[in-house]
Amino acid sequence: MKTVLDCMESGTQYLEKRGVEDARSNMQWLMGFLLGLTRIQLYQQFDRPMEEGELAPLRDLLKKRGEGVPLQHLLGTVEFLRREFLCDGRALIPRPETEELAEAVLKREFPRPARILDMGTGSGVLGLSIAAELGEACRELVLADLCPEALGLARENAARHGLIPTILESDLFAKVEGRFDLIVANLPYVSETDRDGLSREVGHDPDLALFSGKDGLDAYRRFLPEAAKRLERNGLIAFEFGIDQASTLSQLTRAAGLTECELLPDLSGIVRFAFCRPPISP
Ligand code: GLN
Repeated sequence: MKTVLDCMESGTQYLEKRGVEDARSNMQWLMGFLLGLTRIQLYQQFDRPMEEGELAPLRDLLKKRGEGVPLQHLLGTVEFLRREFLCDGRALIPRPETEELAEAVLKREFPRPARILDMGTGSGVLGLSIAAELGEACRELVLADLCPEALGLARENAARHGLIPTILESDLFAKVEGRFDLIVANLPYVSETDRDGLSREVGHDPDLALFSGKDGLDAYRRFLPEAAKRLERNGLIAFEFGIDQASTLSQLTRAAGLTECELLPDLSGIVRFAFCRPPISP
């Protein structure tokens, strides 16, 4: 007879052998998910015998995780800025760095109640969590994306949090009207040269959400000049990018006429976020 603890131990070893990072933590999440228990409840029930019916689904989850299916896809949810969102292959898995971007945006000034745009929204987590935090201080939230499947997921996430955004299937600004007090974006920025170095897990994110031309910056090249024209007075644009892209992006923001460009590193010290103000009007 196997206990919860036995399964935790053998599952952790199984995942370690298959090169899964943070195998123990992954195992805790999977066991909690399977048994419907929180982490603390899991610890309290270490000695409880596993039921026969629980073993087959556990084996199935372990097999998939061992093959590189991301934990977030197996759980079907992800936590972002203290809220739970649905997560599947329709959009990029939300990254912890993007939570940092959301936190930083909330600390900065922009006109309120704000009209907000999340460009390339994917699962919607960035725009939705900012809107949820702002409450009444968000006048309208627009979620735009090129990918209809991603927008389906964003719509489900909006409903889950009782938010009613305007959802637009649009190639960047093609279908987006008007100006905004806040524009946020986490557009694809991975370069073609980095494609081969990505982890097995990242292979489960949609290509469209990751790649954007040779140096990864094609989407930002098209986005920034138009975004600059769509900012209200005293508005803010905030976006995320990758390692070693800060200097090219500074040039692009300047060429777009954006002002007061502030660059910010993420928690691991990589300069990853930019905040800019609208062009000075004549
Ligand atoms: N940060 C993601 C990665 O490491 C890329 C996200 C993006 O392209 N916007 O793969």
